[in-house]
Amino acid sequence: MTRTLIDRLDYVLTVNDGDTVLSDASIVIADGRIEAIGPATDIAGRYDKSAFDTVLSGRGRLAMPGFVDAHVHLSEQLSRSLFPDCMNTRAWVFNWGKPYYAAVDEDDEYLSALVAGIEMIRNGTTCFLDMGAQNDPARVVEAIDEIGIRGITGRHAADRRPDVIPDGWTAEMVDHHFFPSADAALTALRDCVEALNNSAGGRARCWVNIEGKEPCSPELHAGARSLAEELGVGTTYHNASSIEEARVSEKNYGVWPITHLAEIGALGPNLVIAHAVALQEQEVALLADSGTKVAFCPGTSLKVAKGATKIGRYPEMLAAGVTVALGCDGTSAAGSLNLMRQMYLAAGLFKDARLDPTLVPAEQAIRMATIDGARALLWDDEIGSLEAGKRADLILFDLTDVEWVPCHDPVQAVVYSATPRSLRTVMVDGKVLFDDNKIATIDEAALLKEAAVRAKAIVARSGLVRGKTPVTTTLYD
Ligand SMILES: [Zn+2]
Repeated sequence: MTRTLIDRLDYVLTVNDGDTVLSDASIVIADGRIEAIGPATDIAGRYDKSAFDTVLSGRGRLAMPGFVDAHVHLSEQLSRSLFPDCMNTRAWVFNWGKPYYAAVDEDDEYLSALVAGIEMIRNGTTCFLDMGAQNDPARVVEAIDEIGIRGITGRHAADRRPDVIPDGWTAEMVDHHFFPSADAALTALRDCVEALNNSAGGRARCWVNIEGKEPCSPELHAGARSLAEELGVGTTYHNASSIEEARVSEKNYGVWPITHLAEIGALGPNLVIAHAVALQEQEVALLADSGTKVAFCPGTSLKVAKGATKIGRYPEMLAAGVTVALGCDGTSAAGSLNLMRQMYLAAGLFKDARLDPTLVPAEQAIRMATIDGARALLWDDEIGSLEAGKRADLILFDLTDVEWVPCHDPVQAVVYSATPRSLRTVMVDGKVLFDDNKIATIDEAALLKEAAVRAKAIVARSGLVRGKTPVTTTLYD
């Protein structure tokens, strides 16, 4: 057994059930798990210093659980700032997203996952839910293994081709994106879960992930959830992601998207719905009663004009007991994999929009970014809070950085004042992945150099051109 002591931390945000904040506290890590956590004097009384292989000073540091990103697209990582910021969700997905994803091969996806992993670690994110690979999710697992982060991936799947193939799409691309039937998609997804779930030393999990919305049939939506249940994993997809989608749903099914999911038996506690912005009042109860989780992506809402504050019902979901986690979405959708930015937005957007400063207090924003993310990912028995018995996935901030001085209240400071700039150390399973501005597991400079070259090649293959590729669509309308 190897045992590490993080000694005399100024503060620990445990994010346990009581949101306990410890001061002058120590954490003992044994074989990747938190063995003990508590006041420094108690820990010093329980352990002899010789019991530790490594002792890290916690002076001038705050420890908290690593952030959990409940909605990310690793495949999109090398598209940063490629798509224009004048499109709504549907044009974004159908005109730009689809051709980009079709141009990404499995080596690109491996490299994208490594680069995304680095960006997440540098932003304090230690676990993520990826929408899934366009090619082989085994390559994503390979990247998870190599970089040391924790995450869930899958095979991105859809089964409903549009009636008319739009300009910019090729027949090859359509075959690549769409399985011939819901059954064929579910068979492929089952194979992925059986091959890849619980790999990379338990840090990688594989779910039954589908794209969601119009490109997926009702059979695939409902089938994904029941297959996930049978396999003991989760499923995630986009739904109720824009008002335009809600209108199309009303036209096709006579009801809005969440009600439609309820009607076809697709809601349940093993489903994470990304966005869930276009909701009618009574649909909040459908999510709460079924235990369905939501990944709120405020950064995407701001860039793609989803209307989180105009039509979103996130405060109502929180009040109704729905688990609302936070997601960064892809780098073209929202711009970064900085979950601290989403936490800040989640805390502030509704206070402002509704003239109500009591909405989403700092404690709640922290929970959304940590334990509620873990709950959405069905992983809260192991991560999401700092408690004895849980995995040692934690991050340390430098309280001597100017953005923490002075620190009268660490809870408010982490939400409203701190940025990843003052992040000093990131651990997963007790292993240091980032320390003193250096990624420990990989040659970051060489990787980013290769990424820049590869990114240009993907754009050339995708055929996407600003000024030429359309920024509006009526596809699936
Ligand atoms: Zn997404």
